[in-house]
Amino acid sequence: MQAAEAIAATYLPEASTAQLRDLSSRLQAAHAALKAAGRELNLTRGKPATEQVALSDALLTAVTGRADCLAEDGTDCTNYYGSPQGLIETRRLFAPIMGAPPEQILIGNNSSLALMHDAVVFALLTGARDGGEPWSRSRTPIAFLCPAPGYDRHFAICEQYGIRMIPVRLTGHGPDMDEVERLVADPQVKGMWCVPKYSNPTGETYAPEIVERLARMPAAADDFRVLWDNAYAVHTLTETLDDLVNFIDACARAGHPDRALVFASTSKITYAQAGLGLFAASPTNMAWYLKRLASRTIGPDKLNQLRHARMFGDAAAIDRHMQRQRRLIAPKFQAVQDVFRAQLGGTGAARWTEPRGGYFISLDVTEGCAKRVAMLAKDCGVAVVPAGRTFPYGRDPNDTNLRIAPTFPPIEEVRQAAQALATCTLLAATEKLLRDRGAND
Ligand code: PLP
Repeated sequence: MQAAEAIAATYLPEASTAQLRDLSSRLQAAHAALKAAGRELNLTRGKPATEQVALSDALLTAVTGRADCLAEDGTDCTNYYGSPQGLIETRRLFAPIMGAPPEQILIGNNSSLALMHDAVVFALLTGARDGGEPWSRSRTPIAFLCPAPGYDRHFAICEQYGIRMIPVRLTGHGPDMDEVERLVADPQVKGMWCVPKYSNPTGETYAPEIVERLARMPAAADDFRVLWDNAYAVHTLTETLDDLVNFIDACARAGHPDRALVFASTSKITYAQAGLGLFAASPTNMAWYLKRLASRTIGPDKLNQLRHARMFGDAAAIDRHMQRQRRLIAPKFQAVQDVFRAQLGGTGAARWTEPRGGYFISLDVTEGCAKRVAMLAKDCGVAVVPAGRTFPYGRDPNDTNLRIAPTFPPIEEVRQAAQALATCTLLAATEKLLRDRGAND
């Protein structure tokens, strides 16, 4: 790592070719040493560490016997009873996070991605509102706006069902709204993905005026929908939470009450894959969704809903719980920041985000180098998400973006992986500069 730290002060684009050659060979040596160390480090997984999920172990004993299995309205959670929308006490618990009253909330099983997938498939097969034309019957292929870099699994849903994806630039405060407003003038644009708070992977939270414009803008498709995936609603890395305008209310105020389909989950609050998927929308949209859901399931796992309601009790308890999570993961994010600042700061070889919440750091390396950096990292035992994955169709137009997920590995591994990644970033940058100058060996 020494070679990387030693050149921290050098602004690479202004270095002489001789200096670049020297740096490059020192970085090559550092890379070879990393390779020889034979480590296996992994920054791909946006998943909670075991200590984080263990904070929810009260779920394991929240319901202990038959007498415990009754919900507050007397529903026996071990049987086929109750509302398909889920238990009222659990909907009440998540109402502040969802920004809707309990009647406008549905709690599903463990995955919010499954709820999003179903909403898209329902719209494709039966229309986005009762009596509407199924999106799949459209004569020209429909399209979704995809703020990018974004969440690859959103893009995978579109790809799976042949929905054309149109990338939209993110500004640091949400999508480029001039571009969004221009694009929704096309009636084939039926939907848009948004991760409005501590976005995956950029960490940005949409500014109030951006949320209002998304709610207000005229869309040529009268069944245009925004899939508002508020997956990181309470996932702060500081002592306070970013504010986000309530999108359901904003859409209602703007005269587009059915535009918002809001999703969240407890996957990164309690147990990933054993938590609760959450959905909220206007009364009309909720009726639309429930009608279609009726042929799919008799109802969700209410016992898990009961466990969550019992363990938390109220929304303030969720905030306290997320502060405990923050204390576990914020040092890992800090470790990456410290390494990047020390090794990459002032070099012009990379820019990276300093998120206030969420699960990721977004690293933009020198244009045209993300694939090379990912390959160099793999060579020395550091796994990062394949370059391009954060863009629709896996195509990063500038080949710059890499998504870093520091929550899962132990902090020392996070630090080592960040150091190796910084070395690879610098090596790729020097290679590129030398190539651009026609100065490769
Ligand atoms: N939405 C976003 C933006 C995510 O980053 C993730 C997981 O990484 C999910 C949804 C998945 O959520 P769930 O486990 O509820 O399906």
